[in-house]
Amino acid sequence: MTPIGFIGLGNMGGPMSAHLAAAGHELLVYDAAGTAERAPAGARHAASVADVAAEAEPVFLSLPDGPAVIGVCQAIVAVSERATRTVVDLSTVGIAAAEEAARRLRTAGIEYVDSPVSGGVRGAREATLAVMSAGDPEALARVEPLLQLLGSNRFVVGTEPGQAQAMKLLNNFLSAVATLATSEAIRFGERRGLEMGLMLDVLNASSGRNRATEDKFPRCVLTGTFDNGFTANLLAKDVGLYYHAAREIESPASVAETVSRVWEAMAAEAPGADTTRMYEFVEREP
Ligand code: NAD
Repeated sequence: MTPIGFIGLGNMGGPMSAHLAAAGHELLVYDAAGTAERAPAGARHAASVADVAAEAEPVFLSLPDGPAVIGVCQAIVAVSERATRTVVDLSTVGIAAAEEAARRLRTAGIEYVDSPVSGGVRGAREATLAVMSAGDPEALARVEPLLQLLGSNRFVVGTEPGQAQAMKLLNNFLSAVATLATSEAIRFGERRGLEMGLMLDVLNASSGRNRATEDKFPRCVLTGTFDNGFTANLLAKDVGLYYHAAREIESPASVAETVSRVWEAMAAEAPGADTTRMYEFVEREP
């Protein structure tokens, strides 16, 4: 049986790869920071990206950013005797990086399926992610049953790599706006003597309701756990990619400009901080 490859076993890749293994697929996994500590139960451990490419089809990626994805794609292309024909990228890398990865892989006859996900670590654990894909229809058909295992909300948004990234970036822009705006609004209410839990109850029955008021604040801020599982550096990357992509095509971006600046400032101060700590950061934002 040809194994499925999975490269990048972090906050998202760990639980997502576990679903593939739990469904009975043979899995060959690799993470540059240490495979053994991160591999899901039942998976075989590879010693390098090249080892994965030599045996596995398709290969899933869940990597931090565009340079990491392009580097791994280059390492896959460099393997002469390779099993890989399809790379499914679950990472958020931006439009230009997805196009570049697709171009490099295509020179070696490998299809790149642009397939970022949304729903956070909780969605990854519970297999309730939104999985949005763009790519060659035949390649998409090959991996469809596997993508179904990762999330209950499946969307094919186009045929060109980069289109799913555009969808993911505009989503994360809205999510970043909601977390930042909710942080400011709750701080304002607290200064006016309102209590956070009660404000969230009112908001969630009113027109200001959003994913931050409904889920992130009650679960991670009100409780003081700050453990949403998504770090400031990754969200700042996404909002920055969105802002620059919007500017490039002269799409309106005045909110994006401000929101990107604040997330960049938080990421510069505490790159690994949970995004829900924006509630703390807004208090000392310059
Ligand atoms: P993470 O930093 O927890 O995991 C990334 C993993 O990739 C790490 O374990 C790292 O060691 C590994 N890695 C980095 N470079 C590598 C390489 N060259 N070869 C092999 N392994 C390598 O990040 P994450 O939170 O799991 O996010 C992964 C991707 O998913 C990012 O693109 C992120 O934007 C996106 N995403 C994250 C969330 C979330 O809530 N965390 C939600 C949706 C999408």
